[in-house]
Amino acid sequence: MSKLPNVTPSIFAAMTKLATEHNAINLAQGFPNFAVDEKLATIVAEVVKKDVHQYLPIAGYSPLLTKIAKLILDFYQRKVLIETEILVTTGATQALFTTILALIKTDDEVIILDPSFDNYEAPTLLCNAKAVRIELNDDYSPNWERIEKAITTKTRMLIINSPHNPTGKVWKENDFLALENLLEKNPRILLLSDEVYEFITFEQKHISIHSRKKIADRSIIVSSFGKSFHITGWRIGYLVAPEYLMKEIKKVHQYMVFSVNGIAQAAISDYIDVISVDKLGKFYQKKRDYFRKLLKNSRFELMPCEGTYFQVVSYAAISDENDLDFCKRLVVEHGVAAIPISTFYADGKDLKLIRFCFAKDDKTLENAAKRLCTV
Ligand code: PMP
Repeated sequence: MSKLPNVTPSIFAAMTKLATEHNAINLAQGFPNFAVDEKLATIVAEVVKKDVHQYLPIAGYSPLLTKIAKLILDFYQRKVLIETEILVTTGATQALFTTILALIKTDDEVIILDPSFDNYEAPTLLCNAKAVRIELNDDYSPNWERIEKAITTKTRMLIINSPHNPTGKVWKENDFLALENLLEKNPRILLLSDEVYEFITFEQKHISIHSRKKIADRSIIVSSFGKSFHITGWRIGYLVAPEYLMKEIKKVHQYMVFSVNGIAQAAISDYIDVISVDKLGKFYQKKRDYFRKLLKNSRFELMPCEGTYFQVVSYAAISDENDLDFCKRLVVEHGVAAIPISTFYADGKDLKLIRFCFAKDDKTLENAAKRLCTV
C-alpha cells in the first residue's frame, strides 16, 4: 500500500522531460541556464585540494556557518547563534522535509497557502498529519480571515512563502503585522517560512522573518544557495531555527543526511566573500523587464511579478483548454515549456494561468518569446 497514494511524479520533472523529448525551450522548471560564475569555478578547483573530503560536523562546515551568520546580520540585522541555530541542508527541499518530519506529529494540522509549492504537503502526509490547504486572495495576498477560520486546537504549523512561487507575490508590512497578530493569539503554532527567493525582489525589499523579533523565536526560516548563487544542481541550502526546535530538527537530519557535501560547503564559504547577493534583485529585474517587453505584443496577458524568477501569464484570450493540456500543446506545437498553475492548488483550480521561468540568458528568452508571439 502506498504511503502517498495521491502523489504523482513532480510536474517540474515531467515538463522538463517533455521539453527534452520535443526539443522545446524549457521555461518550465525553475533553474538558471547561464554558465557558472568563473569565480566560483576557480574556487571549486582550489577547494578540492583542501581537507574537505571526509564527514563534516552535522550542522555544517564551521567557516560556512560563520559566513551564514554574517549574511543574516548584514541583511536582516539579526544575530543568530552560530553553534546552535544554523543547519546546512541538501537544498531547501531537505530543509523543509526535515523540519516537518521533526516537528509534526500524527493528527497535527499544517496550514498551507494555495497556490503552493509542492514540497510542503508530502512530508506533512508522511507524518500522518493533515495538510489544510487555504487559498490566498485573488491578488495572492494572504486571506487572514480564511486562515484564522482554519485554525483548530490541532493546528501546529503555518507555512508561508514570500517571495512566492509560483506567483511572484511579495508580502507587505501589513501582511507581517497581521501574521504577528495571528501567531500572538495562537501560541502553539510554529511558523515555517520558505524564503528561497529572499534576494530576488524588484520594486520592494524582501521582508524576512529574521527581522520580525516578535515571532522569530518560533520560526524556522529556509534559504537556498541554489537560488541565490545560480547553482540549483549543487543541492545546498540552510535553515535557521531557535535551539529548542533545532535540537529536534538535527535529530532527523543526522539520520537523513548526517552532513552535507563538503566540497560544496567549503566552496560556498569562500564564494560568499567575493559575491554580493544584493545585486541579484537588479539582475533578475532586468530579465523580468526584458521578458515582459518581448511578450508585450503576444496574446498572453502578463500578471504582476514582484519577485522570484517566475512570470505568470493568462492564456484565457487564446484558448479555453485546461492549463495542463494547454502546456502540453505549447511544448508539442510551439516548442516552449511552461508549468500549469492548477498543479499548485489542492483542488486543481484552473484559472487559465501558466508560469514561465525567466532565469535564462537573453538569447533563450528572445527565442522563446518569438515562438510565444505566434501562439
Ligand atoms: N521552495 C520554493 C518556493 C522553491 O521554489 C524551491 C525550488 N523550486 C524550493 C523551495 C527548493 O529549493 P532547493 O532547490 O534549494 O531545494
